[in-house]
Amino acid sequence: MISMAKKKKEAPITGITVSKEEDFSGWYTELINKAELADIRYNIKGFVVYREWATITIKKMYKKTEDLLEEKGHLPLTMPSLIPESNFLLEAAHVKGFAPEVFWVTEAGSSGKLSERLALRPTSETALYKMYSMWIRSYKDLPYKRYLSCQVWRYEGKMTRPFLRGREFHWIESHNVFATMEDAMEQVKEDMETTYQILQDECCIPLIFFQRPEWDKFAGAVHTYAADALMGSGKVLQLPSTHLLGQNFAKPFEVKFIDTDGKEKYGYQTCYGPAQSRNYGAMIAYLGDDKGLILPFDLAPIQIIIVPIIFKGKETVVLEKAEEILSKLKENYIVKIDKSDDSVGNKFYFWELKGVPIRIEIGPKDIEKHQIVIVKRYNSQKIIISEDDLASTVKEITQNYTRELKENSLIDFESQIELCYEKDAAVEAINQGKIVCCGFCSIDMDAHRCAEIVEKEIGGEVRGKRIDEEKNEFATCIICGKPAGCTVYIAKSY
Ligand SMILES: [Zn+2]
Repeated sequence: MISMAKKKKEAPITGITVSKEEDFSGWYTELINKAELADIRYNIKGFVVYREWATITIKKMYKKTEDLLEEKGHLPLTMPSLIPESNFLLEAAHVKGFAPEVFWVTEAGSSGKLSERLALRPTSETALYKMYSMWIRSYKDLPYKRYLSCQVWRYEGKMTRPFLRGREFHWIESHNVFATMEDAMEQVKEDMETTYQILQDECCIPLIFFQRPEWDKFAGAVHTYAADALMGSGKVLQLPSTHLLGQNFAKPFEVKFIDTDGKEKYGYQTCYGPAQSRNYGAMIAYLGDDKGLILPFDLAPIQIIIVPIIFKGKETVVLEKAEEILSKLKENYIVKIDKSDDSVGNKFYFWELKGVPIRIEIGPKDIEKHQIVIVKRYNSQKIIISEDDLASTVKEITQNYTRELKENSLIDFESQIELCYEKDAAVEAINQGKIVCCGFCSIDMDAHRCAEIVEKEIGGEVRGKRIDEEKNEFATCIICGKPAGCTVYIAKSY
């Protein structure tokens, strides 16, 4: 984890009072409340109101992801949020996996009980693939790449936490059909690349992809590949996953096409679900510090805040200069002057809490010296520039802000890992906040018993097999001692 300042003695009213390093959970709750990101007082358990400051950023994240998907050939569409039970029952593994979490609509208006239960979509495979079977006719229609931006509902049993885990969440789901398994696998790789482009490059969160074990894959998938965000201290958080569905859904839903040889064949499918609300939660949790939010430049609701430092008798001259700066910058940036009656100190704390990337300070002395003070939020660096260089310097600082933030924030996966050959060593490594790399029977169902022992006795979860390299230096499974079929990673998760 990046080192965090711990001086908390003179915290102002607007600042965070809990240290992130000492009490992550308390810190996160205080950040959500004080920065007014979400309100948990809405009176349905697990359903949360997202406030303005969070919603603006989440919309920007949606836009970036949608643009990237469209660049890669996906078209948008909109689906109804209700799914008839008969659709839902078509794919057995899918039903089994999702049934415990579905909200059902059983009654309507004054006519009472519905003849068929309707699921409030927990995910859209069973809604969409019914339509795909009507829309897709020929190999000329393939690849068929679509996405929708929507909300989904799942009756989450675990403790909920704003943005990170709730019973309603906001996501994008992309659903694709191909002529061959190889083409489908290429899509899975493209989805992983998209995830890196959005989460690592734009949101500055370090990631690693794993092929999930059989017992932990998406219900109905052939394989699931999931991004784990490295949250520091060895803990990981699952972020977007992409699923190779093969023909598991194409067969029951009759997603078929006439191939070049004139024969009718089932398509090969993939789906990908970047949850924007969870990505937002991961980003603020990972980047934030004891002063509050830290946001990448493009994703900030306000990018530059101008704080006039006002002394009696100099009000007009300072405010005029602030307006002049605003007019020079507003064409290219989201910029605002804080004209409130608050003290200068409180204004600084407030906008730091909100994570505004750049603060410009302007006072009578600066005006005399023809200078402007610029402060960067993520590292508190103060830069004094000549008034004449305003446009060019701000341009340079803002263009580099997100890249610098990323370089400053990303932790190296390799530095978090400990190779372990015995269970005791793995227990110790997990307790020290490391990610364990070890030999394992396999990631097929027959290794599930060993995985349960991992959870009970090592205190982490088997996250899966790494997809970018296959190290095989382990002779035996760390649990049962049988010959190792693969190398897996074990970590604690949020
Ligand atoms: Zn084993």
